[in-house]
Amino acid sequence: MTSQDPQKKLKIAVVGGGLVGSLQACYMAKRGHQVELYELRDDIRLMEHVPGRSINLAMSIRGRSALREVGLEDEIIKNHGLPMEARMIHRLDGSTYQIPYGKKGQCIYSVGRRFVNEVLLNAAEKLPNVNFNFAHKLVNSDLDKGTMTFKNKHGELVESQADLILGTDGAYSAIRKQFMKRPRFNFSQEYIPCYYLELCIPATASGNFAMNPKCLHIWPRGSFMMIALPNQDASWTVTLFMPHDKFEDLTTPEKLLAFFQTHYPDSILLIGKERLVKDFFATKPSGLISVKCYPHQSGKALLLGDAAHAMVPFYGQGMNCGFEDCLVFNEFLNQFGDHNLEKVLPAYTEYRHVDAHAICDLALYNFIEMRDLVNRFSFLARKRFDTTMHWLFPNWWVPLYTSVTFSRMRYHLCIENKKWQDRVVRKLIWSTGTAAVATAVVVVYNFRSYLQKLF
Ligand code: FAD
Repeated sequence: MTSQDPQKKLKIAVVGGGLVGSLQACYMAKRGHQVELYELRDDIRLMEHVPGRSINLAMSIRGRSALREVGLEDEIIKNHGLPMEARMIHRLDGSTYQIPYGKKGQCIYSVGRRFVNEVLLNAAEKLPNVNFNFAHKLVNSDLDKGTMTFKNKHGELVESQADLILGTDGAYSAIRKQFMKRPRFNFSQEYIPCYYLELCIPATASGNFAMNPKCLHIWPRGSFMMIALPNQDASWTVTLFMPHDKFEDLTTPEKLLAFFQTHYPDSILLIGKERLVKDFFATKPSGLISVKCYPHQSGKALLLGDAAHAMVPFYGQGMNCGFEDCLVFNEFLNQFGDHNLEKVLPAYTEYRHVDAHAICDLALYNFIEMRDLVNRFSFLARKRFDTTMHWLFPNWWVPLYTSVTFSRMRYHLCIENKKWQDRVVRKLIWSTGTAAVATAVVVVYNFRSYLQKLF
């Protein structure tokens, strides 16, 4: 699979030049290899409008750590990211309250998808050993030989070969389709019964944010919800998540406005009636998929990012996890050596797939938390308890959200940690309850004896 000559540069094909692919190209080029990046779309840096998913994304420590390693954290976070310190919950009556994300000073950052992708492409382009091939769609590949066939924009077939193929071509990965033809490849996908559609709250007439920009705003409504993240130009990207049949019911502007009047009355003024109707009917709701697979490696190919683990967006971890893949893979290359891919690829996949599966599960769980639990007293009481415990014992009691978002604790250990905390809390409640009952029994017994003595 690899050259015996440790000085020889490897020829690396990165298939998919989205967020993870463009970062991975930087990583591999910085290791000194010759990188060919193939991307289905034209160069987004030359496009007026880039079609596709979510306009902005929440970036947290895992994504930041991966960017830091290639020297891009400051350009993306410090110069561009908008810090969000808390969730701002919008009640039905228009009143709001905040739930901080972590300790004072801890925040996540709203970043523009296009901006991040462009910064990463620019950084890759500056490296002399990266070559871009836009408008190249992977149509076939032999994973053992490392050969690939692409269709370019003229409809011509282009053949290529690499020592290592990195499949970063997203949730519907064409590279992963090649894995599926091979034995012992496990794959599962789930479309959740929830769709999403993006709307926009514009900047105010004076060019300011119409809501507190230090928060991610949430309108939880039980089985559905709406969220909003701030953009650099003081506008907001609003995402409406709900079951498809609810979208299908909203067939006319009147029905749409009545729906918003019932469930999101405070947002109508912010979005504006005309804009709400125009944006809603201009777009079709998109589905949300969760994909798990194992192994992430086959022959000379490795899957990274959504190609390996697409998740629903409710933990804001898809990009973060994909960026962390690049960092973890880099650590494995450091440990085993670049010319030892026979060891690196299986070792990486054994290590990483448990975490990929764990974050896919956590992301599904967080949908319930965001749309429903945040409204419940028991949830808020537990959050307060966790926050107090974390303040008292910062290294011993790390709440789930903190471990996922503000630490690089392995995702599957975040779940283990939460299970352990749940056991402690259950025992605490049980022993407090037992002590309260025992005290009540003793008090009643003594009182009866006292009364018997009196009469
Ligand atoms: P993609 O971004 O999908 O890139 C794949 C690339 O491969 C694309 O450029 C595509 O054109 C190219 N490609 C596809 N097929 C081929 C082919 N056959 N040949 C060549 N190229 C090909 N994550 C977060 O961390 N925080 C968030 O707040 C967040 N919010 C989200 C909100 C929504 C509504 C959604 C849907 C997702 C959200 N995510 C978030 C997840 C995040 O968008 C993804 O995890 C991230 O985009 C994955 O990056 P990727 O490079 O693996 O895949």
